[in-house]
Formats: sequence, structure tokens, C-alpha cells
Amino acid sequence: MPADCLFCKFVSSETPVELVAQNQRAVAFNDINPQAPLHVLVIPREHYVDVGTLAAADPAALADLVALAQQVALEQSDGQYRLLFNSGPNAGQSVYHVHGHVIGGKKLGWTPA
Ligand code: 5GP
Ligand code: ZN
Repeated sequence: MPADCLFCKFVSSETPVELVAQNQRAVAFNDINPQAPLHVLVIPREHYVDVGTLAAADPAALADLVALAQQVALEQSDGQYRLLFNSGPNAGQSVYHVHGHVIGGKKLGWTPA
């Protein structure tokens, strides 16, 4: 684990965060700056930089991540959600531990670019 990774510190509990859901390979917590009534981040327990790296290295962990997103959307909303992975600074990635944004709880707009 990179020593300075905030999300690794969430996983290890070195930095406290309230988990809203978890499974064997992934954990979920509310985004600190929510963009919709439902805005949860799902992250693998192991450190990977972005979703492509995770997919190549451990497809089962990516599947667990998606399953956790689905679980959160069903538990906290109506099961309809957007699952978004920003990859790289030009795409808006600001934390380099892969995280899926689970966004929902309302009729969403679409301004992807
Ligand atoms: P990115 O911009 O990398 O796609 O998404 C990073 C997300 O992490 C942002 O939506 C931001 O609000 C969230 N975030 C950054 N720092 C923290 C934090 O300390 N706690 C929580 N819960 N979310 C954070
Ligand atoms: Zn990390």
C-alpha cells in the first residue's frame, strides 16, 4: 500500500470512515461531497490505481466491486444508479486508489463531458 493513500487508510481503519456496506474484497462509504441524494464510493480493499489496472490484475475483485455498488443502490435507493470511474486527471480523477462513484436517488442529468 502506498503510505500516503487516503483510501488505503480508510480500508485499514488508520483513518476512520463510516462504511455503509462491505464484502470480501470491497468497501463502500459516502462521498464527502455528494452530487446526488445517493453518492457512495466503492473501492477494492487492495490498492490499484484505476479501474483498468484492477480489471487486468484481478477481475474477480472488480466483479465484487460492481456487486457492492448494486447492493448499495438497492439498499439505499431504487436500484437504479450510475456507476462511474474517472481514470486519469483529464477525466477528473483526484484520488489514485480506484473508486466507483455510485450515483442515484433522483432522475439524473447527462453531462458526461
Ligand atoms: P475522483 O475525483 O477521483 O473521481 O473522486 C474522488 C472522490 O473522493 C470525490 O468525489 C471526493 O468528494 C471524494 N473524497 C475525497 N476526499 C474524501 C474524504 O476524505 N472522504 C470521503 N468520504 N470522500 C472523499
Ligand atoms: Zn490505496
